Amino acid sequence: NRAFVLNSRPSRETPAGPHNFRYVESDIGEPGDGQVLVRHHYLSLDPYMRGRMNDAKSYAQPQPLGEVMVGGTVGEVVASRNPRFAVGDHVVGSGGWQLYSLSDGRGLRKIEGGTPMQAWLGPVGMPGVTAWYGVNKIIAPQAGETVVVSAATGAVGSVVGQLAKLAGAKAVGIAGGAAKCEFAVKELGYDICVDHSDADFGDRLKAALPDGINGIFENVGGKPFEQAMLWLNPFARIALCGLVASGYDGTPTPLPDVRVLLNTRSRMEGFIVSDHMALWPQALGELAGHVAAGRIRWRETVAQGLEAAPQAFFAMLKGGNFGKQLVKLVE
Ligand code: NDP
Repeated sequence: NRAFVLNSRPSRETPAGPHNFRYVESDIGEPGDGQVLVRHHYLSLDPYMRGRMNDAKSYAQPQPLGEVMVGGTVGEVVASRNPRFAVGDHVVGSGGWQLYSLSDGRGLRKIEGGTPMQAWLGPVGMPGVTAWYGVNKIIAPQAGETVVVSAATGAVGSVVGQLAKLAGAKAVGIAGGAAKCEFAVKELGYDICVDHSDADFGDRLKAALPDGINGIFENVGGKPFEQAMLWLNPFARIALCGLVASGYDGTPTPLPDVRVLLNTRSRMEGFIVSDHMALWPQALGELAGHVAAGRIRWRETVAQGLEAAPQAFFAMLKGGNFGKQLVKLVE
């Protein structure tokens, strides 16, 4: 087997980078009674992993040093001594940054159907459920309302925009670069997309919002968030999903003057998708239906080989990904 373990934690003097990970080789191992051996086809790279590198109090435990880095995986069962799984089954789970994982079957789900297996790490996986929760349970867009989505073409954001459109809302995307914005409108169905790297981003966002904002799905923080908060309509709903632009390196995203929440009687709610496991079956069922019917589309950036994972991970945190960031682990 081959794997990456977390070798050291980032610090003020030495910011996070690929040097924090160590490449290790070990025996694959044989499944014991009740265990399955999974060969991973794809590893998912997600922003939450950056938070796990820190030894700080958060909603999840830090990643222990010297252990295989946490991560979602899809793959096939290659040996099984667990009656729930047979050799050849395709499964999604949390196998980590490695080629093979041994599991007792807990947290491992069989996947079926014609959709490519890596979709279970994207639109019909954790990012999709994240989008579903924020859209349906926090923003609850009404027909004709305006929903703003940052990181609009990313794993979560791409699903948010399409769910907002399916609800009959107007979807306004914010993304980094002309190519992402073009994709957002032409392929994902956003009504308009504003490039946050434009010098006049603020003015362009304002121009894209003639009817103000009823909902914000915030993935980024920083400038996109500050600018969007200027245009809230009364009774707006803000789903605070992630702050990838700032929070994870310790740079704060200041809350705009809280008076805006009072004056507009708006509601801002942070959420973590793993707190809502009871809703996952419903969410995944609806998302799978949308994907199968072609109502939800997505794009992937695929790094080749486990060795490429650390670089691809840090590139993703800076917007180097275009759609869901994956690592392909098999030829
Ligand atoms: P994405 O696929 O959206 O990738 C991250 C994106 O963030 C980049 O592609 C980039 O998009 C954007 N970005 C990075 N830096 C900046 C910056 N300085 N300014 C503006 N945009 C930036 O990742 P995910 O879809 O996996 O995750 C999106 C967000 O959702 C993250 O904040 C993540 O932590 C959060 N999340 C939260 C969950 C929860 O339970 N609350 C669960 C899953 C994810 P662009 O180039 O378009 O700007």
